[in-house]
Amino acid sequence: MDNETAKNIRESLTADCSQCFGLCCTALNIIASSDFPINKPAGSPCANLQSDYGCKIHANLREKGFKGCTVFDCLGAGQVVSQVTFKGLSWRDDPEIGTKMFQVFPIMEQIHEMIAYAAEALSYELPPALSEKLNMQLNELQSLTKRDADQLLSLDIVMYRFPLNELLSETSNYIRGKLIQKISSIKKAKDYNHERADWIGKKLSGQNLQAVNLRGAYLIAADMRNADLRAVDFIGADLRDADLRGANLSTSMFLTQMQINSAKGDEKTLLPFYIQRPSHWTA
Ligand code: SF4
Repeated sequence: MDNETAKNIRESLTADCSQCFGLCCTALNIIASSDFPINKPAGSPCANLQSDYGCKIHANLREKGFKGCTVFDCLGAGQVVSQVTFKGLSWRDDPEIGTKMFQVFPIMEQIHEMIAYAAEALSYELPPALSEKLNMQLNELQSLTKRDADQLLSLDIVMYRFPLNELLSETSNYIRGKLIQKISSIKKAKDYNHERADWIGKKLSGQNLQAVNLRGAYLIAADMRNADLRAVDFIGADLRDADLRGANLSTSMFLTQMQINSAKGDEKTLLPFYIQRPSHWTA
């Protein structure tokens, strides 16, 4: 697969709520918090979900205390479960379908997330052997999305996560390693490793953090205004309320829309090709 095709696959992984039966508003168990003001058990529709699967308060979610709904993103899993796995049959048509559908949804979400990471990795220039392994993983993951509900429910997702994670680490090390060689003759790759760092509320404004490994880092409410975050590996990092106003994330790696939706940014924040600017960010 060439880089452009992989890029297109990554870009295509966006939610199309018009093709989904409101699965994120129904399937998930949500406990009342500052992000969602009511308790909602798994499998029961949110009180704001309309008969056409639209949200009654869509335009005012944040004002009404439903900030979590503006952060959530299924990477297109909802429409695939609705239209491919269940072939356009809704949980409203048959409660038995609903039970399975709500169990399949989080599995499909994980598959889509893995497809997103694999496709993003393949959008970079990589050594042929690594590209080949990623290609095989991507093909396998894509084929999973076509399986029926029972087959999806019997999957052991961890079996797919482990080998993929290794390939993503290899990709990250390769891309960041090349940049590190270019930007520093003194520092070694290990100086750029801050995997799982606790940087909650840390002042990083204006810093050059290019090529840093921030896998699984805690960046809640970190001040990263105007920071240079190019080629940073953000896989699994917690960016809730991190301040990214004016920051350069144009070539940041392995971000998800949900991570970015949970952070703060503005029109000066530069985002990678696979991330859309959240509509709730300040102008
Ligand atoms: S508030 Fe709207 S978007 Fe959020 S779960 Fe309820 S129906 Fe869905």
